[in-house]
Amino acid sequence: MYLRIEQIKNEGLDLEFEEQPEVFPVLSEMINQGECNFMAPIKTALRAIRIEDMIDVQGHFNTLVRLPCGRCLKEYETPLKSRFEITYAHRPPSALADEEQAEVEISAAETGLIYFEGEHINLKDGVQEQVILALPVRSLCSENCKGLCPSCGKDLNEGDCGCNRQPPDSRFAALKNLKLGSK
Ligand SMILES: [Zn+2]
Ligand SMILES: [Zn+2]
Repeated sequence: MYLRIEQIKNEGLDLEFEEQPEVFPVLSEMINQGECNFMAPIKTALRAIRIEDMIDVQGHFNTLVRLPCGRCLKEYETPLKSRFEITYAHRPPSALADEEQAEVEISAAETGLIYFEGEHINLKDGVQEQVILALPVRSLCSENCKGLCPSCGKDLNEGDCGCNRQPPDSRFAALKNLKLGSK
């Protein structure tokens, strides 16, 4: 996923990529760990423009992921897509000491800049980061997934198991009694 700087004309440069998730090292690791799976390649479309010494990349990606539900543990598929903007800056030709150089790197990371060297930008790391950010923190197969019975482990989406579970408001009732009692 390379962007050649010389190809960016005044009106910008449009690029499209289609990559297998295994091409991205962190995604590949997540697949190996069973954290997620990809059912489609990662398609990216972007536009790069020059702003003085910087390259502004705006784009979007889409793919299809397979994730385990956080409640019932069953795997489900969901489209994953997101818009993004990444700003790349030419690494300044540096006569800085290592310590100063490290500070420059830190402030670049804080402002969301990514440095590149030479005449092309490798977009892989930047796009990979966007895919990871788009993954749901708490994944649910559906908003009203009933989850598993805490007593017998049955998937309650498939029907009730007959266990005598406490009504959901019992803790609040207990709390209320406690408050009244303490007066
Ligand atoms: Zn579920
Ligand atoms: Zn049960």
